[in-house]
Amino acid sequence: MLKKLLILFLLISQSKAINYIEKLRYSISNEKDRYVLDFKKNIKKKYIKLKKRKTYFCFYIRRAKLSSKFPKAKYFYSSKIVKKIKVYRRYNPKICFFLKRKDYILNYFTYKNKLVVDLFRKDIEAKKTRERRKYAKKLKKEKKFIVVLDPGHGGFDSGAVWPIKSYHPYLKEKDIVLKFAKLIKKYLEKYGNVKVILTRKKDKYVSLYERSKIAADYGADLFVSLHVDSYPRSYKISGITIYIASPKYKKYSQKMVRVFYTAPRPIKVVFEKLAPDITYSFSDDLAYNLKRYIKRVYKGKVKVKRHNKNIVVLRTPGRPSVLIELGFITSRYDRRFYTDKRKMKKLAKAIAQGIYAYLRRFYHQKTCYTKKLVYQVKKGDTLWKIAQKFNVSIFKIKSWNNLKSYILHPGEKLYIYKKVCD
Ligand SMILES: [Zn+2]
Repeated sequence: MLKKLLILFLLISQSKAINYIEKLRYSISNEKDRYVLDFKKNIKKKYIKLKKRKTYFCFYIRRAKLSSKFPKAKYFYSSKIVKKIKVYRRYNPKICFFLKRKDYILNYFTYKNKLVVDLFRKDIEAKKTRERRKYAKKLKKEKKFIVVLDPGHGGFDSGAVWPIKSYHPYLKEKDIVLKFAKLIKKYLEKYGNVKVILTRKKDKYVSLYERSKIAADYGADLFVSLHVDSYPRSYKISGITIYIASPKYKKYSQKMVRVFYTAPRPIKVVFEKLAPDITYSFSDDLAYNLKRYIKRVYKGKVKVKRHNKNIVVLRTPGRPSVLIELGFITSRYDRRFYTDKRKMKKLAKAIAQGIYAYLRRFYHQKTCYTKKLVYQVKKGDTLWKIAQKFNVSIFKIKSWNNLKSYILHPGEKLYIYKKVCD
């Protein structure tokens, strides 16, 4: 009896676990295609399997059923990438995308009840990268720092909201962080030698892949992601937390370098090994600078933490990167920084100051190294002339080259060591 009941229970719970795929939405632009499958309930990524072939790719979705309204096949004439989407089986469906081209980048993720499929054109992505690099080069020539600010969430992803579970919350994390980002940009650019690039300027969802690609393309000097915390279990919890990635995710960031960094071969190899270390050691420094300035305007707790989770945006190698949780939306004290303009400005300014304090330290701390030069003695050269030419002393030239006398012979090679600073 118990066994039978158990089976019955399992059957019921299984049928309950079935999720309905209700709609297919899409937006097609010159830059990318986005296809969104709307499920009735939240969807877990583990129920979705992807199989890629040359001219198509398919999603195998388990524990799901198509709703009756869902089209069996749909053609996309305006898309440059997708020819049609075809559905096989209504139960545990296989949904296939047939392609017009092979040079595309596929990035898919689940968010609540959505499966989002982003398709980028490789040629357009490469063009974007080239343009960003060109612009970054110009900025570097003008001796400007490049800071990438990343307001989290956006579009269908509101992030934390207040009041919690309200259908019409008056505070949304996505709006708060965008406001902060714009203010921080304003304050930072006032210094004159900083250019701030935002990963999003509007209320739209930018995938994590795109966010870290922006930082990599611009060769940003640093990366700051902005978020707001929420702790519904206790409204008393408040505080600002500055997260830096934990070194245990080092190998992931090394992988990211391989994906993004396209320097000439020899440099590339060195950079791949070095970049994650730069991120980890320098992020610490940036985080403590931020803490120092935030504490001046924010009287609650300010903590620096290593993030346990493997966060994509903290894996932008080669540069310091931090993620700031700008207080808790559930805390009355913290909410004042989202509603009171004066307070918001103060906090944004402190963050700008913290970032700039970090940058300035590096600005003055030039990297110097000794360069070994080889000079071939010409007819009529004297030690004095050569010393003048390289702005070094005669005695140094003598000692570097073990010269016993002042007499030089044309064709003779001399080593000169010069200190060079970037
Ligand atoms: Zn967030």
